[in-house]
Amino acid sequence: MKKVIEKEIHSIDEGIKCCIKCRLCESRKNAVPGEGPVPCDLFILGEAPGSMEDRLGKPFIGMSGKFLEKMLADIGMTREQIYITSSVKCRPPKNRPPKDDELRICKENWLNKQISLINPKIIILLGKTALKQMMGISESLMDCHGRMPDHDGRKYLVTFHPAAAMRFPKIRQEMEKDFRKLKSLI
Ligand code: SF4
Repeated sequence: MKKVIEKEIHSIDEGIKCCIKCRLCESRKNAVPGEGPVPCDLFILGEAPGSMEDRLGKPFIGMSGKFLEKMLADIGMTREQIYITSSVKCRPPKNRPPKDDELRICKENWLNKQISLINPKIIILLGKTALKQMMGISESLMDCHGRMPDHDGRKYLVTFHPAAAMRFPKIRQEMEKDFRKLKSLI
């Protein structure tokens, strides 16, 4: 079964790499499908590839990625235990937030298929865009971080994007608390 899932994920990855279904394909260097073990109980969803990810085609490899790895290490985990991807697979121009239609198109064509195949028990939503992408809500993260709602048969953890936690010590403290809740779940 694992081999079948790996093959299907590989086929999705190849589809993403040459996808032209939304305007973000026009300015990207590389689409970034995601990476990690499949199937996998834990799934991290970020916003969109940044410049380094766009250049190398891998998720969370810049400063935010290093920060995320440190947060995971603090709860005794490594990124190799988690499938990591983003809400859209191509870098928006000048790192602007993805637009609603881009989110919808990428979710319908790719993200839903990734989740269905990888079949995680817990999906960690990093930041407002990931929250909107999966829950359809635009709420202040200061109000809703740390929540662990059930949705479509899975558990979610709502928390901040590492890029925000890197810049603001208060957000970092809150994100650390959220990750400790994650530890208690697994
Ligand atoms: S963001 Fe998603 S839907 Fe848009 S071109 Fe990239 S892979 Fe395709």
